[in-house]
Amino acid sequence: MSALIDKVKKLAVGFDEQTLKSIEIEPLIIEAGAVHGVAPYLREKGYRHVIVAADAITYEIAGKEIETAAKALGISAHGTIIKPDRQGDVIADEASIVQLLLDIQQQGTEVVVAAGSGTIHDISRYAAYTARIPFVSVPTAPSVDGFNSKGAPIIIRGEKKTIAAIGPAAIFADLEILTAAPARMIAAGFGDMLGKYTSLLDWSFGAAEGGEPYSEQVAEITRLALDKCMEHVEAIARRDQEGIRILIEALIESGLAMLMLGQSHSASGSEHHLSHYWEMEYIRLGRRQLLHGAKVGVACAEISKLYHRLAAEEAGLSFAANPVKVREAIAALPEEQTIRSWLRAAGGPSTTEELGVDAELLARSLREAHHVRPNRYTLLRAYNMK
Ligand SMILES: [Zn+2]
Repeated sequence: MSALIDKVKKLAVGFDEQTLKSIEIEPLIIEAGAVHGVAPYLREKGYRHVIVAADAITYEIAGKEIETAAKALGISAHGTIIKPDRQGDVIADEASIVQLLLDIQQQGTEVVVAAGSGTIHDISRYAAYTARIPFVSVPTAPSVDGFNSKGAPIIIRGEKKTIAAIGPAAIFADLEILTAAPARMIAAGFGDMLGKYTSLLDWSFGAAEGGEPYSEQVAEITRLALDKCMEHVEAIARRDQEGIRILIEALIESGLAMLMLGQSHSASGSEHHLSHYWEMEYIRLGRRQLLHGAKVGVACAEISKLYHRLAAEEAGLSFAANPVKVREAIAALPEEQTIRSWLRAAGGPSTTEELGVDAELLARSLREAHHVRPNRYTLLRAYNMK
């Protein structure tokens, strides 16, 4: 078993066998050249009809090679290049999902290999789940923590919904490919990790005051992954194999924590709701999409700013049942400016201006973003509903 899963399992005290079994991903390979293991894996598993799902760019980076290698082993492999929308973005919407589903049906596909970043994974995850076949993860950038999650955030008629689907049967994370990913995508993965500062705060608050389910172990696994990232900001910023290994491991660990809980609380709080709100607005306006993690990182700074402001005001937290405890939690949350400086160090946008989100949208999202996930209790929700 992978050392990473082993480590997570050791922290998962009190979880039943079935849950521990559910986070097993075999194999989970994180090394240079991992992509060469995909075709032999497919043959070993006895798959004869395989689809490699990618976008035009990730097909060139990894998809084509996997398809060629699979064919050389006698596997009928088909590359599905997901088409971009009118703005030129590949998004996980109904059109992309149906495009892949049609190919799956026509090819008699037994497994989908997702060769790409988060969006290709979400499309593949949901299409494979719908077709009742497994999918294999080949991330091409360390840009999100959703590679190994079960939930597929998809866009239906312009609305973002997270639908329970399946996690990958195997992961091949090739450090050569990941290290060569665009700097902005690496910075986005770092931003998605930074978002755990606020998601973990929102989660402990939601559990204490809003009846949300909670697991100290899942929170701890996420916190350790975040801490490891923060101890290696410089290596991540250098984008060498050591830094990229730390980042992708942290992202996968955060994904494993979500798998264990069966929900995304540990990794997705009000900063994600802000990010999703901006995303839906951009779709409505027909604007080019921003990277998920780039939005999450900046949103984390904005949420930190708001929470610290509330904590500083005499009656700022009077809506909370236990304002003393909430104030304590906020005191441990990095300040807005600290978060922005980390984002800058990693080479990503650190402000809404740099991101391209205007002041009106920011203000509106801070008032309304909790509606994106109406059944999740966060500090932002409690504040807005007071
Ligand atoms: Zn995220």
